[in-house]
Amino acid sequence: MTIDAWAAHAAHTPLEPFRYDPDDLGASDCEIEISHCGICHSDLHLLNDEWGATRYPLVPGHEIIGTVTAAGTEVQELVGKRVGVGWQRSACLACDDCGAGDDNLCARSEATCVGHHGGFARHIRTDARFAFEIPGVLESAPTAPLLCGGITVFSPLRRFGVGPRTRVGVIGIGGLGHLALRFASALGAEVTAFSGSPDKESEALGFGATRFVDTHDAASMRACTRSLDLLLTTVSAAQPWPDYMELLRPHGTLCFVGVPDKPIAVPAFSLIKGERAIAGSAIGSRARIREMLAFAAEHGIGAQVEVMPVSEVNAAIARLAANQARYRIVLEI
Ligand code: NAP
Ligand code: ZN
Repeated sequence: MTIDAWAAHAAHTPLEPFRYDPDDLGASDCEIEISHCGICHSDLHLLNDEWGATRYPLVPGHEIIGTVTAAGTEVQELVGKRVGVGWQRSACLACDDCGAGDDNLCARSEATCVGHHGGFARHIRTDARFAFEIPGVLESAPTAPLLCGGITVFSPLRRFGVGPRTRVGVIGIGGLGHLALRFASALGAEVTAFSGSPDKESEALGFGATRFVDTHDAASMRACTRSLDLLLTTVSAAQPWPDYMELLRPHGTLCFVGVPDKPIAVPAFSLIKGERAIAGSAIGSRARIREMLAFAAEHGIGAQVEVMPVSEVNAAIARLAANQARYRIVLEI
């Protein structure tokens, strides 16, 4: 079999049609005919080789939804099912971390489009143990971004016990950020959106924020001092982190899911006073992904998407790079 895909051959070059022969289907692998694939900012980091991990030709795409067209001997029951695949394509499932349910933290985990060809393609062959059945009530296009963006924000909201008495702030209202507003609000939290794009205010309130803060407005920022239990940052650029620390209540946490290009520097006293913490969060475990999909089905949560044909993939990537996506671009394959 040959797979038709779209690949970049070097940093900062457009994607082009690309064909490759996949590996043989292993006993626990499946082959998926892809219908939709979201474009995550991590795809952009990879395309520009900002993490030094990219291997070209790169077929990006790790917010995949499609139908299983073939499966190995151990996972035959998946044939014909609609499934989703996210950032992680495999883990050892034998180490202590996997045994503890932290398979997303496995030292031997592999990513869908690092050293493998991803979802900007007609098909993919991957480990079926990381392919998740999609609840029937969820439509494919708004659900595709849940496989990476959605789980990446849902997982820390659950880890930090977000619920009706929690005050949550979300920094950066893009693909991940708007889903964080929707999930945090559905969990019952009081939610503040921090955005450098004032034109996003009414939509952010529609996603479930009860307060919108223009991050360029120093007085509005100061008005949030000591008001938040959890601040989840999705931005991929350096921010005034010491100022954000002051917005946390005692025992509050600044949690990083976005990947800024510079190290995080804060004065030790911003941690000591108020016993605050800085944390990071990586996608989510398989159990958390299943929980997130069920929660999304129950609460009617999906991404607000712009659906574009895969033939326009380069225009779509340019929109994301210019912070013009509202709020997640999903390619129809
Ligand atoms: P996105 O759609 O581009 O959204 C990021 C948002 O951050 C933008 O909409 C913008 O929000 C703000 N922003 C962007 N550039 C900025 C700048 N230079 N200065 C200040 N604010 C800026 O990206 P995404 O797909 O949500 O991904 C966000 C980050 O999460 C990326 O770094 C990605 O690699 C990372 N990520 C991490 C994980 C994980 O497991 N930890 C998983 C997936 C993605 P406003 O317009 O509202 O300011
Ligand atoms: Zn992603």
